[in-house]
Amino acid sequence: MAAAREAMRRVYGFEDFRPGQEDIIAAVLAGEDVFAVMPTGGGKSLCYQLPAIVRGGLAVVVSPLIALMRNQVSQLATMGVAAGCVNSNNPPGENRRIGRAARDGALRLLYAAPERLLQPDTAAFLKRCGVGLLAVDEAHCVSQWGHDFRPEYLQLRELRAALGGPQAIAFTATADAATRDDIEARLFDDPPRRFVMGFDRPNIRLAMAVKNGPDGQVARFVAAHEGESGIVYCRTRRRTEELAQALRKAGHDAVAYHAGLPDGARGAAQDRFLRGDGVVAVATVAFGMGIDKPDVRFVCHADMPENVESWYQEIGRAGRDGLPADTLTLYGMQDMARRRGHILEGEDEERKRVAMHRFDALVALCESHRCRRLTLLAYFGEASAPCGNCDLCIDGVETVDGTEDARKAMSAVARTGQRFATGYLIALLRGEKSGKVAAFGHDRLPTFGVGANRSAKHWRAVFRQLYAAGCLDMDIVRFGRWLLTDSGWRVLRGEETFEMRADALGRRRAGPAKKPAPAQTAGDDRVREPRRRAGPTAKPAPTLSGAADMALLAALKAKRRAISEAQGVPAYVVFADRTLIEMAGRKPRSRAEMAELHGVGEAKLARYADSFLAVVAERAP
Ligand code: ADP
Ligand code: ZN
Repeated sequence: MAAAREAMRRVYGFEDFRPGQEDIIAAVLAGEDVFAVMPTGGGKSLCYQLPAIVRGGLAVVVSPLIALMRNQVSQLATMGVAAGCVNSNNPPGENRRIGRAARDGALRLLYAAPERLLQPDTAAFLKRCGVGLLAVDEAHCVSQWGHDFRPEYLQLRELRAALGGPQAIAFTATADAATRDDIEARLFDDPPRRFVMGFDRPNIRLAMAVKNGPDGQVARFVAAHEGESGIVYCRTRRRTEELAQALRKAGHDAVAYHAGLPDGARGAAQDRFLRGDGVVAVATVAFGMGIDKPDVRFVCHADMPENVESWYQEIGRAGRDGLPADTLTLYGMQDMARRRGHILEGEDEERKRVAMHRFDALVALCESHRCRRLTLLAYFGEASAPCGNCDLCIDGVETVDGTEDARKAMSAVARTGQRFATGYLIALLRGEKSGKVAAFGHDRLPTFGVGANRSAKHWRAVFRQLYAAGCLDMDIVRFGRWLLTDSGWRVLRGEETFEMRADALGRRRAGPAKKPAPAQTAGDDRVREPRRRAGPTAKPAPTLSGAADMALLAALKAKRRAISEAQGVPAYVVFADRTLIEMAGRKPRSRAEMAELHGVGEAKLARYADSFLAVVAERAP
């Protein structure tokens, strides 16, 4: 392991392993088959690259996306590691050159998509070269449970055999236990050594809000991140284009991205985002895999995501470099209804049940009044304390006594025999005589019109809160009719009271009977000031002081842009943001001082040090 640590410092310029990397690499170097689950940004690539570098021999890396593989190859190239990516889009001669290097034992890592590797000629050729390690990235693509399923992944076991049965290791960021077992069973003949890392990404700030003029909400969030790279996720293609245009009008460098764009335009949009500095991609969730850009500073969901896993994967694209990153997720009742409807269109009952359960967990997370991260990590089976880096920890949340409204709403549910969904019940509560309510004779119920003093919007929020709190259950087979749960009955019978989030009702700070929610202890009803902590509990980010440092940083970024454009690689491949920030703060005067910075290994030092030292010397005499 000493050799691995030394190589990490020399080649990558990283000081220390991230959590899990050391154990995983040790197991790989000991020759074990490994299956590792690490969060996005956890540093999976190092776990297969470093063993290949230290041990020599040829490692084959399977990955689904060419763009992603190419980025890794160009990154390895700037670090002086011999790597190649074979694919049909390569310039003529490139695949042959990679093949020769592999045959001559000069190549450490060969990247390819599974369909390429599965061609009999390719496998036979590689077998002759002698493959020491088969690394499978994005291993969840083998599971039919996920939306990234790729049938070719199912043949990777055969590929391994065709390569002469080399050591195999697999990586994924997919979280839930059922999928993990599925992946393992499909990829390995014998159970591998399994590593499951913690899922927390403390540098990512979490925030969720009810849609309330969503265009404005998105615009304000993006404006707060002026000049930073970020992603805005939308549900439809059309919306990506509308929002991108609105953001461009507001002066942001925004591009739309969705699967409906012609190939060329789509590739160009992705490229601009990946290579650029401060581009906002407004995209459908088709924009995702293959985004290994480390300096994405924010992710905004303009529409509600699909479930907790996909939401976490999507926001997980922010802050891979470990620096603070910001997120905002918008949600509304319409999103919920649409998503539920969509799930119910499915055929397989078991799948529908699972999908609904996963979606419900997201709804509960949105409507929660305790720390988001606590709720999130609990969902992944991890215990934790309030994080200090989510909207609920930072701003606190006010709750109001909603017992009376809750009883009215649930009485409407009970008196109509638990047979109706939200829209109908709201009409009943508001005393709307026309339409179905009268037809069912429900205008004679005592509940009829008891909620006329409140808007339909208010009542929708009440139903959402009752659902999030587990007082109501939605019948997923009978199109969203509400059912009372045990705790719902207790509130209805007057045995328990019901707290609602004030903001869910559209009230801010000024509502009656308000008090900050108990963020730590359930049932604690002391009035407490909203807590405000100094940001993430992650490693403190390098900070810059003063305008001179900022000007130096801008000059360093300009130098980076010039080099990256000249070499045709993304900016972060030259140096990560973090490296430039450290450089602007510490102002290295010599190669030796430069070598101490994060992300400056031997090869980058030789290649770039002088250009950047010159910028520092000129700006900070
Ligand atoms: P993922 O697990 O999402 O594939 P990557 O392998 O792309 O993550 O790594 C995410 C980022 O973290 C990259 O920019 C990588 O250079 C950086 N990184 C990985 N390991 C370390 C480390 N030990 N120290 C510092 N940075 C690291
Ligand atoms: Zn929190």
